[in-house]
Amino acid sequence: MSAVNASLKLPLRADLAGMEPYGAPQLDVAVTINVNENPYPVPEPVIEAITQAVREVAGGLNRYPDRDFPALRGALADYLAGESGVKVPPEWIWAANGSNEVMHHLFTAFGGPGHPALSSSPTYSMYPEYARNTLTELFDVPRREDFSVDVPALLAEVKRLRPALLVLASPNNPTGTHLPQDDIHEILAETRETGPDGAATVVVIDEAYGEFRRDGVPSALELLADNQHLVVSRTMSKAFAMAGLRLGYLAAHPEVATKLMIVRLPYHLSAVTQAAALAALSKADLLQAQVARMRVTRDHMVATLRGMGLTVAESDTNFVFFGKFKDRQKIWQDLLDRGVLIRSVGPDGWLRASVGTEEETERFLSALKEVI
Ligand code: PMP
Repeated sequence: MSAVNASLKLPLRADLAGMEPYGAPQLDVAVTINVNENPYPVPEPVIEAITQAVREVAGGLNRYPDRDFPALRGALADYLAGESGVKVPPEWIWAANGSNEVMHHLFTAFGGPGHPALSSSPTYSMYPEYARNTLTELFDVPRREDFSVDVPALLAEVKRLRPALLVLASPNNPTGTHLPQDDIHEILAETRETGPDGAATVVVIDEAYGEFRRDGVPSALELLADNQHLVVSRTMSKAFAMAGLRLGYLAAHPEVATKLMIVRLPYHLSAVTQAAALAALSKADLLQAQVARMRVTRDHMVATLRGMGLTVAESDTNFVFFGKFKDRQKIWQDLLDRGVLIRSVGPDGWLRASVGTEEETERFLSALKEVI
């Protein structure tokens, strides 16, 4: 084969010119607490269950998988019922390779030219990428100083814009803060006919960190029954300790899944993914045994950082957002030099650290004490 041809000119879309692929650095360091993973390894009985399940489907991999994965949708519905007390039928569930892909389906089906989307920053840095990829114009109503959503300003923008999609992460990344249920309620009441051509605005509450919410903080799932334009998105990547599986899902009125089926690629969820996810769900208790422990570590991180005189946002997630530093990049680098990888993301002056094991967390806290 000839050498790489340096003169190759590819017909890249003009709006993608000069862009870099998204992604946090994947570095080999002792304490990796930069992408909000669950730090505890998968327990042995779960490894067994997944291995067995994959073995069972392996012989049938000559065939395409079940396109509509009813068994997995049923198991996800059962899991949500146990976690939140809200029981939805399997047809109310949709799933894909990570909630990133679920969101991409939503933007592909409901966004696009003339169908703008609205969000509230600082928030998850992939939302602009879903919008860009699907040629959806994304608008923003910045959060207040305390990272709460400015609901009156948001609703005024909804009236002006008639967005097809309103995407709010709760609890939010990178701030860790949740949106009060009354706010979500008010937003839902005002968005029933505010989309393009009198359609509803599809309100997506991204609950990727839902399982980490503090006691007394409800899930938006409770609002599904009365709000057909509400979509609640979840993932097995965080609380479930299954980031490597790539399984995200949503709960919404079944008409939503019907529309998303139009844009999904055929057989997007492999038979191996479906089998492994079902096996993991059958062991949900074991996989989630560490969630309570991570909440305790999280609260300890918040208290310790505040004890150091830092400003720390309230956290309902498995990470903590803290600041404010004159030169956050220097703090980030100084921590990395001590074998601790965190994330420099969101508004200037702030840093984000995920909950690690108790030992990793102590290493992070003592390294931070050294560098500030
Ligand atoms: N939503 C939010 C708010 C996130 O922080 C993340 C992951 N960082 C995701 C969605 C995507 O997660 P996944 O694709 O692994 O389900």
